[in-house]
Amino acid sequence: VDAKTSALIELHEAAGKLFHHVLVNTELGQPALAYLHERGLTDATIDAFNLGFAPQNRLLKRFFDERQVDYQTLRHSGLFIENQEGELRDRFVDRIMYPIRNEGGQTVAFSGRLLAKADDQPKYLNSPETDLFNKRKVLFNFDQARGAIRKVGDVILFEGFMDVMSATQAGVTNGVASMGTSLTEEQIYALSRVTQQLYVCYDGDVPGQKATDRALTNIREQSSLKLGVITMPEGLDPDEYRQKYGEEKLKAALLTARETPVAFSMRYLRSQYDVNTDAGRLDYIEAVLAILATMTSPVEQDVYLTQLANDYQLDKTSLKQQLAMVKPTVAPPKQQPARRQVEPPVVTQHR
Ligand code: ATP
Ligand code: MN
Ligand code: MN
Ligand code: MN
Repeated sequence: VDAKTSALIELHEAAGKLFHHVLVNTELGQPALAYLHERGLTDATIDAFNLGFAPQNRLLKRFFDERQVDYQTLRHSGLFIENQEGELRDRFVDRIMYPIRNEGGQTVAFSGRLLAKADDQPKYLNSPETDLFNKRKVLFNFDQARGAIRKVGDVILFEGFMDVMSATQAGVTNGVASMGTSLTEEQIYALSRVTQQLYVCYDGDVPGQKATDRALTNIREQSSLKLGVITMPEGLDPDEYRQKYGEEKLKAALLTARETPVAFSMRYLRSQYDVNTDAGRLDYIEAVLAILATMTSPVEQDVYLTQLANDYQLDKTSLKQQLAMVKPTVAPPKQQPARRQVEPPVVTQHR
């Protein structure tokens, strides 16, 4: 590691300590600490994630000036905004600070959350890309979750940092989150080095379910990871679920509310069509068959065909005939696990 990089890391470690100190020990941090406690985060969680607070008085710049930290280091850290004259001002003001660490556990960026909603400012503000921080590579909490991912055998991908922290507090410690974007090739590769099974647990609201659908396609196209979906009830996100029902219930939901990608897709597609009309129902069935047509296991196909037949009082034989005529619209996984030696279904062009 070169001198520049270690100076930047040192700067981030110092900033993280300062923000944490302000949050837990000072008058300035009181409202933020009260807010976190109100959301049900314990002091142990606040410590474990080294949460902090960046106050209004632009403390960070003064702190580093007093320690005579060199201007170029400050400039390249991403923690400051530079004006026309080259003057630096704190980027994060009046925000709860979540340190973002790399795989080695070093703080390389921050995400700052507003205490209260403001119309003119985004709820979350992330550090910009720097020499330290490549947001395509970093996964929130991967450094702390890696051991648990290996032990449990799977990883849970959450939408928000707060969801990762909530799950951890509930004893589910194998969770990570991307930086508010879909998983990148680099992140998928990093995960697939420690596990073969990934569960997507995005918010239970409509945007979250939509994002789940996209995430499944995205990850399937880029890896051979086995996928699953965890859906929170009532349109809640995992953190909201914990706040409403408690840690034990969140833990139970995370461990049991699991479905296969196909079961999720069938449910998700149902919300996309008006299945109460004949036309909508037919379109829905066709969409489901298009998914089933990509499956390589006849047994798996049969499970969902049976379900479809039961759900809509249809004759399974005609569903099977229809399936044989469907051209798959969803790309099959890049690689199949080696143990699957089943011939793919014969796909007949529909004319
Ligand atoms: P909270 O519970 O604190 O309100 P959340 O995680 O539930 O946060 P969501 O609105 O569900 O927030 O967004 C999910 C994730 O998307 C966030 O954790 C954050 O990483 C990212 N995100 C949300 N809003 C913004 C924004 N305005 N700018 C950048 N990233 C954002
Ligand atoms: Mn959301
Ligand atoms: Mn959310
Ligand atoms: Mn939330």
